[in-house]
Amino acid sequence: MIVIIRGSATIDEINKLIRRIEMEDCKVSLVQGENQCVLGLIGDTTRIDPSKIEAFDIVERVTKVQQPYKLANRLFHPDNTVIEVNGRTIGGNELTVMAGPCSVESESQIIEIAKSVKESGATFLRGGAFKPRTSPYSFQGLKKEGLELLKIAREETGLPIVTEIMSTDMIDQFVQDVDIIQVGARNMQNFELLKELGKTNKPILLKRGLSATIEELIMSAEYIMSEGNGNIILCERGIRTFETYTRNTLDLSAIPAIKRLSHLPVIVDPSHAAGMWWMVEPLSKAAVAVGADGLIIEVHNDPPNAKCDGQQSLKPEKFESLMKDLKQIANIVR
Ligand code: PEP
Ligand code: MN
Repeated sequence: MIVIIRGSATIDEINKLIRRIEMEDCKVSLVQGENQCVLGLIGDTTRIDPSKIEAFDIVERVTKVQQPYKLANRLFHPDNTVIEVNGRTIGGNELTVMAGPCSVESESQIIEIAKSVKESGATFLRGGAFKPRTSPYSFQGLKKEGLELLKIAREETGLPIVTEIMSTDMIDQFVQDVDIIQVGARNMQNFELLKELGKTNKPILLKRGLSATIEELIMSAEYIMSEGNGNIILCERGIRTFETYTRNTLDLSAIPAIKRLSHLPVIVDPSHAAGMWWMVEPLSKAAVAVGADGLIIEVHNDPPNAKCDGQQSLKPEKFESLMKDLKQIANIVR
């Protein structure tokens, strides 16, 4: 962190500021120019809030050099994090593919879809039981019954299950029942939820918020990690931009960016990004080509009658052919 001091500051004022900064466990190097001086903060500055320094009258500006996150930072953990879930790895050499319906609707629906995505090579079953819907009048999910049905589908297929949590009240139940807990885009900055999930050791799928920057996404991972849980998979699922043709704009550049900044695995959700089933195939291929560790894809056996997101769900046959192509791309890229 670099602190630019106003030209009018006296040496006493500068020394007072240096003493204050040194109380935060970092060293300060003073560079005296002809008209202005600059302070270079050396050491771990992640805990220093720049706005506190900017509040001093003699400070012109503060510039961050280091990222504000530490545990999620590749700088302090150069190797990729590989997360193990029920004998499968995420972030290693395998391409992770989580597939299934937006929402669990019935026993026959989830079992039929689970069997077919497994057959096509999916490695996890997704399905929402608690649904965050824009309208309170839309289908809100089967809730606890949905969790029970996911467990049955896991038993039938052996596929580990990933499903979204919406409140801290459900953490104990989710820890018991599911293999990966999903934090949806709308809860990416629900800091109380993140902190409580950090006290568990369950793998967490953390989706990028609707208008969140890459740094904000990694800071949310840092919240979970700071409580002790390092099993985090980040997910790019499209962000809100001025473009309205697609549901969201898939930020493919986020994948190489996150890979450079953090050691955590990154997967892509082309379904919620595009909002249209026919765009899922090209976006999935692009995601694997830019280095994503995996995908989370909505698949439904009867999209026109789906209770949620039928328009962006692939039919099982389309998913099967996509999986064949993805394997080839993954072989080239990896
Ligand atoms: C979902 O995965 O079902 C979902 C609601 O996604 P997001 O939180 O990315 O909108
Ligand atoms: Mn959905």
